[in-house]
Amino acid sequence: MSAPSPAVFLDRDGVINLDTGYTHKVEDLVILPGVAKGCRRLIEAGFKLVIVTNQSGIARGLYTKSDYQRFTERLLELLATQSVHFHGVYFCPHHQLGEIKQYSKDCDCRKPKPGMLLEASKDLSLDLSKSYMVGDRPSDLEAAVQAGVIGQVLIATGKVLTDEGIQKASFVADDFLAATDWILTNSK
Ligand SMILES: [Mg+2]
Ligand SMILES: [Zn+2]
Repeated sequence: MSAPSPAVFLDRDGVINLDTGYTHKVEDLVILPGVAKGCRRLIEAGFKLVIVTNQSGIARGLYTKSDYQRFTERLLELLATQSVHFHGVYFCPHHQLGEIKQYSKDCDCRKPKPGMLLEASKDLSLDLSKSYMVGDRPSDLEAAVQAGVIGQVLIATGKVLTDEGIQKASFVADDFLAATDWILTNSK
């Protein structure tokens, strides 16, 4: 058996693609600048790339699981044409106060809980102590802290940063490439 791999966990909306608020329409899909290039650098450095995304819009009845899947498949297709392949994609469709019964619960996967990261770690044989998180919300960073991930990068693209986010961050990056540069330097 090979040794556990380091990974970079990526939030989806606001990190990989433009966050339009409960983003789910394929026509709203915009990949953010530097994402393809940054992901390629991380892969070359030996990181597995894993998407971990809260999708409570499904529980809230704002869109369906199929809408989520269609959007994500298109996103993966677009990045694949730029030689970026993810090792795993995990999503949480739940919300405690949802409208759709089957998804309305207090689950263990919704960030800030670490469930998705822990599941990925098991599935993909990851070394969390050598892994990183890139997110745009405090809950992304908190999930990573709880999972035992070593570094949490907060992406600051076009957002007002809260003190809570800044306090939890190992590094605040202006954009995706700045985030990957920091990870590559920090992991040496
Ligand atoms: Mg986000
Ligand atoms: Zn969940």
